[in-house]
Parts: sequence; C-alpha cells; structure tokens
Amino acid sequence: MKKPYILLVEDEIHIAQGLIFNLELEGFLVTHAETGAAAKEAFSNRSYDLVILDLMLPDSHGIELCRQMRQAEPQLPILILTALGEEQDRVNGLKEGADDYLTKPFRLEEFLLRVHGMLRRSAWYQNSYNKEEAYLFGSSRIDLKNLEATTANGKIRLTELESRMLET
Ligand code: CA
Repeated sequence: MKKPYILLVEDEIHIAQGLIFNLELEGFLVTHAETGAAAKEAFSNRSYDLVILDLMLPDSHGIELCRQMRQAEPQLPILILTALGEEQDRVNGLKEGADDYLTKPFRLEEFLLRVHGMLRRSAWYQNSYNKEEAYLFGSSRIDLKNLEATTANGKIRLTELESRMLET
C-alpha cells in the first residue's frame, strides 16, 4: 500500500523534528521545508497527500503559501499551525483554503488525530480503502469510516490502527 506523503513547512527545528519523528512512526513519508522558498521548491518537485503549514516563516507568511498551494491543487488537504493569539491568522488561513488548523502549543495526540482524519477524508484514503460504512458485532456497532465504536457501554473513539485491525 502506498504511504501518504506529507510536506511539513515549519521553521522551528525542535518542533519540526518531533513532528517528523512521530509522523514517520505512523508510517508517513515526510518532506521538511524550513522556509517559504524551500516549501515552494518541494511543492513543485512532487505531489503530496497533505501539507502541514506553519504560518510564521522567516521569509514569508504561510497564508500566501496556502493560497498558492490551494490554487495549484484544489483537493490538497492543508493543516495550518498557528501560534496562540493569532486569531486573525487562523481566520485568514481558513479563508485562503486551509482545511483545518491547530494552535501551538498542541498535544501530539491531537495533532496525529487531525492528520489521520484529514487523510482519511481526502482522496488518498478514498482510493486506497473501500471501507464499508459500519459493521455490527453483537450489540456493538463499529463505524470504520468515522473511527467510532458504539457499544453497550457507550461510544468509543478508535485509532486508525484499531480500525485497521478490526477491518482485518
Ligand atoms: Ca514559525
């Protein structure tokens, strides 16, 4: 199965390294760009399944990159990372076509959930999996598409891995 290819645009090295490490652990391929110029070059070199875009970059503003990437690839999922208090950036980012955003500092778990969720909704997952909507096991209902299990004890969120294991 083809691994999703992610472009990470982030100039803070310690943040970038942590994200790359964990994204690769999840089985993704990651290209990292530290500047807007490097991001543009990486973007023109190949296609990506997801772009993670920090807004405050040394040579440019992520909003501008977001607009250009969105124009070039209307279907591409874009996740924006904003610093706390940059409310206007968040709004502008969504206006320019970002699909989702996270405010720094964020929890790794939430970050990975967003990434998985965005990929799942994107064409990559739709083409790679032809998931049934839901399965019934006794009194439990497993919804693989929304990563949710409804049991006698209430609703449980499933991880991507759990969902794949259940599917198997
Ligand atoms: Ca930054």
